Amino acid sequence: MTRNPSSSPDVAVIGSGFAGLAAATTLASKGLNVTVFERHGQAGGRARRFDAEGFRFDMGPSWYWMPDVFDRYFAQFGRRVEDLYDLVRLDPSYRVEFNQGPFDVPAGTDALAEAFETIEPGAGQKLKSFLAEAKVKYDIGMGRFVNKPANNAFEFARLDILRDAPRLQLLRSFSDHVRRHFKDPRLVQLMEFPVLFLGAKPENTPALYSLMNYADTALGTWYPMGGMHRIVEGMVQVAREQGVKFELNCNVEAILEEGGKTKGLRVGGQHILCPHVIAACDYHHAEQHLMPAAYRRYNKSYWHNRAMSPSSLLFYLGINRKIPNLKHHTLFFDTSFEAHAVEIYDDPAWPKDPLFYVCAPSVTDPSVAPKGCENLFLLVPTAPGMAENQADCDRIYEQIIGRLKARTGIDVNQHVVYKRQYAHQQFIADYSAYKGNAYGLANTLRQTAFLKPKMKSKLSGTWFAGQLTTPGPGVPPSIISGQVAASEVLKSKGMPGLANEIEIEQPVALQV
Ligand SMILES: Cc1cc2nc3c(=O)[nH]c(=O)nc-3n(C[C@H](O)[C@H](O)[C@H](O)COP(=O)(O)OP(=O)(O)OC[C@H]3O[C@@H](n4cnc5c(N)ncnc54)[C@H](O)[C@@H]3O)c2cc1C
Repeated sequence: MTRNPSSSPDVAVIGSGFAGLAAATTLASKGLNVTVFERHGQAGGRARRFDAEGFRFDMGPSWYWMPDVFDRYFAQFGRRVEDLYDLVRLDPSYRVEFNQGPFDVPAGTDALAEAFETIEPGAGQKLKSFLAEAKVKYDIGMGRFVNKPANNAFEFARLDILRDAPRLQLLRSFSDHVRRHFKDPRLVQLMEFPVLFLGAKPENTPALYSLMNYADTALGTWYPMGGMHRIVEGMVQVAREQGVKFELNCNVEAILEEGGKTKGLRVGGQHILCPHVIAACDYHHAEQHLMPAAYRRYNKSYWHNRAMSPSSLLFYLGINRKIPNLKHHTLFFDTSFEAHAVEIYDDPAWPKDPLFYVCAPSVTDPSVAPKGCENLFLLVPTAPGMAENQADCDRIYEQIIGRLKARTGIDVNQHVVYKRQYAHQQFIADYSAYKGNAYGLANTLRQTAFLKPKMKSKLSGTWFAGQLTTPGPGVPPSIISGQVAASEVLKSKGMPGLANEIEIEQPVALQV
């Protein structure tokens, strides 16, 4: 049955995560009639939120990095971040609990260099040169690389890009790069942590990704008051202003084809006719389950052989008291980094003694917990594809709560008034996530740029966007992915696409 043919959109977007919202808004701002189909009752995808017992929990992302990407995104529609949410810079950016004790990462490069100096003489200056190199990568990456569809290598075959390529250090490992600068294991771990959370062991990640250290330390760690979901609310508001329509609680069952072209979507047994689709849900799900079989570019063995980034075992906790000594972000690096990395990447197992991360947004923001209470989000990175095992989840919970008690002096378990666990099976149920992944594909060299699953589908009129295609996982890359996919749709209609290179204006100047 064909539904409402008179209101058929020009473009249907599957999924209202950051990629779907960015794609839809960009297209609507160019005058196209765009509808977003979202299976959940709330927009935001992995960044949805839920309320329980007076606590407001962000379900996924908690680190607001690369503020320049958000600024540029909203500016495209004549809006400023400050019109939409109140952004504060965290200082310290985060705390790391090492065996030797806590280490606070202060906001600002000079302060961080001084702190490095206290751990390893000379490391302050080395940090500055490390970050100066990382800034070059960030500028080149953001300016010339990430805003391309990366459908083939030729997009990068230009003299200036080839000239800059060696400075990206694609062929050096991240681990080697960090160790050339720092010797103390705490500093090494500190520099390696953004990579571990985003996808692969440091030795399998190109040194290019030290641009993440630049983003984390120089551009700063920020927080939107009210919670990370405020970003989604801001994006939905701007989307509606541009005319995007939302169909929530609508699970897309198939992408329809006729005569080799996209014909529309099947939703709840009904056909929505439209010539263009952006599948901004998990790529594997869209390609292997929604796309007609003849138009699948990849097969089961391709997917089986992809290196997925970790999944996560998450606990959302409502605590009926404050926990002094807790920072907004705390990384527990008080056990073996290497042993945990092996359990994620080499020999998948529920970790014996994991690293973990605690987010306590109520330290900064009283609106996310009842008065005098603490809102905690505990994250343990785990291998993707793990079978559910409640006994292991319970054991891990007890271990990490015990370590939290040891560091804060508070027996948190005695004060839990709300607890929810979330892991692989929930990622699969909620997002049809391949192997229950949390953050898409790992950032290995063999899965970078045009070596990622392609944005362009084999079916004319359909594109993919989101964290499993280019440029990769994370909130800012997903926003960029949606914009680039939208630009490709515009070009396919003979309209001007978005500029795919940008002059970067750094909001924070590095003094080196
Ligand atoms: C626990 C966790 C912590 C994270 N922490 C950070 C962080 O601190 N900072 C950071 O930058 N990034 C972080 N990330 C990564 C970041 O959240 C993601 O990269 C990003 O949100 C992905 O956006 P997306 O639009 O690609 O996909 P998604 O957010 O997954 O959106 C896809 C949407 O498609 C919908 N959908 C799926 N199938 C269908 C269908 N058949 N029909 C209709 N709708 C469908 C889904 O419901 C979903 O809303 C984190 C992720 C997780 C899971």
